[in-house]
Amino acid sequence: MVTSFVLKVASRCNLNCSYCYMYNLGDKTYLKQPKFMSMDTIRIFAQKLSRYGTENSLKSFQIVFHGGEPLLYPKEFYRESIKIFRELLNNSYFDFVIQTNGVGLDEEWYDLFNELNIRVGISMDGPKEYHDKYRVFHNGKGSYDDVQQAIELGLNKGMHGVLSVVNLNITPIELYQEFKNLNIPSFNLLLPDGHFDKLPDDTIKEKVNTSGYTPYADWLIELFEIWKSDSKRPDMRFFKTLIQLIVGEEVGDQMIGLKKNGVAVLETNGNLEVADSIRACYEGITRNEINIHTHEIDAVLEDPLFDIYINSHQMVNEKCLNCPIYEICGGGFLLNRYSNENGFDNPTIYCHDMIKLVTHIQNDLIDSLPADVCKEMQLSKVSYLEIVEELENKTSFTIHENIKDKLLAYSLV
Ligand code: SF4
Repeated sequence: MVTSFVLKVASRCNLNCSYCYMYNLGDKTYLKQPKFMSMDTIRIFAQKLSRYGTENSLKSFQIVFHGGEPLLYPKEFYRESIKIFRELLNNSYFDFVIQTNGVGLDEEWYDLFNELNIRVGISMDGPKEYHDKYRVFHNGKGSYDDVQQAIELGLNKGMHGVLSVVNLNITPIELYQEFKNLNIPSFNLLLPDGHFDKLPDDTIKEKVNTSGYTPYADWLIELFEIWKSDSKRPDMRFFKTLIQLIVGEEVGDQMIGLKKNGVAVLETNGNLEVADSIRACYEGITRNEINIHTHEIDAVLEDPLFDIYINSHQMVNEKCLNCPIYEICGGGFLLNRYSNENGFDNPTIYCHDMIKLVTHIQNDLIDSLPADVCKEMQLSKVSYLEIVEELENKTSFTIHENIKDKLLAYSLV
């Protein structure tokens, strides 16, 4: 069931980050979108959410205000929107979140978000030198100083956490030290957007998913070791979720684990779609005819791409079905599996990185836990090379033809 909705309240941004999937990775359909979501769209969405909740016995929703840049919208929009949600769904519990680039996030904004009970997440790429290279205004000027100010202010104003995209050019210790210096209580990392035909910068195409080429795992392992040995470490969701998965907890998100993706995106014009980063596959891939003004929320489940997205950890390439760490990796994020040749029928571009990272953390956990606890949790040592070899040879599970056809349907050849 879809219980988390990302509301693209503004389709434009005051920054022009070089790696942004919205504007710089192959999809220009945002140009056809209204610049802002109307109050009418919010009201209709809330009405339909109320009906959808009643019909499906759902009482708890996450609403993420996102963009473009959501702070481009005036403050009154947020006051009015929250009022509408609370009035029309007065028996529901809401987790309101705003994900912003932090530019212009001043005391008044924080006060408003605290009043409305909206959690604030800020995107940042690390030390000034790096952040200012990628997260730039349209005139090329870096945004670090604005963001640092917003984070400092947020430390006493309930800022929830910081989100960063892994950048191999920043050493893990530099990144960690930056976040420690800023006293950030919680941060999360995203692997860069990209797929087999549009790989992240710094990735060597010929080497992707070949044995021994694991730049992201090597980087993340270094960071994991630093984080682990810090007695006052900040909360770090990516590592925490991996550990929980390794010990068998049923957690996860659109990136890892086997949980279904209960997330839908509401575009500024009211369209209901899959996660917007999937747009980096090719122009218009996420677009459909399902609009909140003319359809009920359930209709999005009929969208074939949404069907793959929501079931993306079940609809996986055959190699993943046979992979010893499938329950942890889940085949990776849908975008990262894409190729023009095979559509979504590939393991993720980060396959070898995931194997190396997971084996490292699992072995590390085993070393730090008492033997009887490991036995009880059925944890045993694993080897990166053995898993890679096993992947080449194991064919115990075969992919259902119907699922394969669905994944291949997005091939461009
Ligand atoms: S590690 Fe590779 S093969 Fe294993 S589940 Fe992840 S993507 Fe699939």
